[in-house]
Amino acid sequence: MAAALLVAAGSGERLGAGRPKAFVELAGRPMLEWSLAALRAAGVTDIVVALPPGVPAPDGVRGVPGGATRSASVRAALAAVTADVVLVHDAARPLVTPDVFARVMDALADADCAIAAARMTDTVKQADASGRVTATLDRSRLWAIQTPQAFRRDVLTRALDVSDDVLAQATDDAWLVERAGGSVRVVETSPANFKVTTAHDLRVAEMLLRERC
Ligand code: C5P
Repeated sequence: MAAALLVAAGSGERLGAGRPKAFVELAGRPMLEWSLAALRAAGVTDIVVALPPGVPAPDGVRGVPGGATRSASVRAALAAVTADVVLVHDAARPLVTPDVFARVMDALADADCAIAAARMTDTVKQADASGRVTATLDRSRLWAIQTPQAFRRDVLTRALDVSDDVLAQATDDAWLVERAGGSVRVVETSPANFKVTTAHDLRVAEMLLRERC
């Protein structure tokens, strides 16, 4: 059976809620509880949460102190599991649905890592520091990457065995697998599995989760 690492150690400064983002109240529960419920509904019970300093683990899960960066938090949580397959999920994506965990794990059959991803709907351009557009990218081949991300544990362990400087550059763990030469596959998911970053995101998430209750 797979283990899940739920990263919840971020400060959430951009949200400005005065407490760590994963513990902000959202549709009647702390934000991370929505992801825990989805994991349990998917049959995943071995769950380790990376926590901000001094915050106790929620009932029924193990907690570890998070790191200075997101991938450092993943590395800390990974040290606490022994399962062969590991799911990494951001507590900041409370709209995840249980089927997505199963789908990324299934896609591991022919990859080292499988990641939830939504097709780009906006046109994406590159610009230089002055704002002058230098390229328009081919949208049909672009994906907006989400979590969950599923890994073979040995692959993730090797990918995370890098300096803290490299870890700090990682905006997701799949990139660390890519740079170590591993194969990564996208699994198409809904843009509704967005990351709560701003106060606007929090309002939208609240409305969507209330509809589910
Ligand atoms: O900052 P951002 O929203 O990209 O963080 C994504 C996820 O990573 C969040 O769930 C956050 O709690 C977690 N995180 C962490 N440890 C850090 C930074 C972020 O667990 N040092």
